[in-house]
Amino acid sequence: MEFDVAIIGGGVNGVFTALDLALRGLKVVLLEKGVIGGGTSGKMHGLLHSGARYVVTDPKAAVECAEENKIIARIAPHVVDDTGGYFVAVTKDDLDFQEEFISGLRRANIDYKIIDTRDAVREEPNLNPEVKAVIEVPDKVVYARELLISAAISAYIEGALVIQNAEVVGLNINGDEITSAVVRDGAKGDIKRVNAKVFVNAAGPWAGRVAGMAGINVDIMPTMGVMVVYRHRLARRVINRMRPPSDGDILVPYGHVSIMGTTAVIVDDPDNLTISKDDIEFLTSEGSQMVPALAREPVIRAYASVRPLINMPGVTGREATRDFMVVRHERPKNLVSVIGGKFTTGRLVGERLADEVSKFLGVSKASRTKEHTLFGANPSSDIKDLDQETISIVKSFEGTIDEERGLIASLTLILHHIVHRSRSLIGWST
Ligand SMILES: Cc1cc2nc3c(=O)[nH]c(=O)nc-3n(C[C@H](O)[C@H](O)[C@H](O)COP(=O)(O)OP(=O)(O)OC[C@H]3O[C@@H](n4cnc5c(N)ncnc54)[C@H](O)[C@@H]3O)c2cc1C
Repeated sequence: MEFDVAIIGGGVNGVFTALDLALRGLKVVLLEKGVIGGGTSGKMHGLLHSGARYVVTDPKAAVECAEENKIIARIAPHVVDDTGGYFVAVTKDDLDFQEEFISGLRRANIDYKIIDTRDAVREEPNLNPEVKAVIEVPDKVVYARELLISAAISAYIEGALVIQNAEVVGLNINGDEITSAVVRDGAKGDIKRVNAKVFVNAAGPWAGRVAGMAGINVDIMPTMGVMVVYRHRLARRVINRMRPPSDGDILVPYGHVSIMGTTAVIVDDPDNLTISKDDIEFLTSEGSQMVPALAREPVIRAYASVRPLINMPGVTGREATRDFMVVRHERPKNLVSVIGGKFTTGRLVGERLADEVSKFLGVSKASRTKEHTLFGANPSSDIKDLDQETISIVKSFEGTIDEERGLIASLTLILHHIVHRSRSLIGWST
């Protein structure tokens, strides 16, 4: 079986590229070494950025986030919680930043509202009553795995094959083109070959390794961040510190818990991350300046992941741009890579990667993902070829106390089904 495109990596960039290309009518396979969302995308902070965080330091990324924030809320309403967000000034330095921050919001065309601090504390009773200024912005919360699986299922419905446990371990090259990917099938433990006309390197923090298989260099700065999860939801909105992006400046209310983050440390190996007690104490201390109750909240766990940032000489992980770069390599000429980006801009990355692939293949169809509602609003009726057992489990949530909570279970089950079907369609035993 020869594909038009093989996409390496099932994070936010990979799944949206698969969907975009499938909607353009191309024959697509998505190869993920673990599970969809098993990399950074399933271990992010949960913030669908309004763009406000970057208006001063990273204006292009701010504008992209602002636009994508609206698009994702429109195409995936079932995985977005429209909480809104507050930026709060805790110190005089924060207050001094306010003017520059507001100018940035205006330039990026992001809606904002100055909130009287007493009203803010009434709205958010856990907020530090000493806050000196509060600005409201359209931050939202996004449920990461639910979005990723919804997009992967949508890609499958449009004709893409989605294969998990499929690690690309080599690339066969003939002249100046890749002819096939060498794939370790984790389910069977053997080696397979996947032929395609174009290959997309969407391997996130592992993108350098994949590029290395083609004998080329992709310059990423793998930057680890730690997140701490607290037992209760302490705010209705996302609470951000009003200062330039720094460590420990965002508290996200994620379902019924609160998540405080994050840090930025450059690492050598994205598979070898350690979280220290100091990280947890630091984040709790920073967070409790905005929401004092955090200091008394039980920590239920911490997790970490790695940003695949664009490497720029002399720039640290905190200062590096959150923008992204699509690279069409000269040799091998049928490889396209992406570096950087945010979860919030994953759809846009998919569009840009798909544009490059389409150019290479001479396909003139334009991207449609901006208007394509993702699978999941109605999981039991949108998919045609589900087996009876899957349908009955998915349907069993309807009309019960757990109908909304059943979404992630249903999506996971359907993902399992489509991966199984994809494996048999490609001719791999299951
Ligand atoms: C601590 C932290 C918090 C963040 N919080 C936010 C936030 O709140 N909001 C926001 O918008 N952004 C956030 N981000 C940024 C965002 O999460 C990342 O930019 C984005 O998830 C990266 O997606 P990706 O698809 O490039 O990488 P990944 O999600 O890592 O996907 C790459 C995939 O490729 C697979 N892969 C690797 N090698 C191979 C191979 N050889 N064969 C097959 N598959 C392979 C991996 O298993 C992985 O699943 C955060 C990042 C970090 C680190």
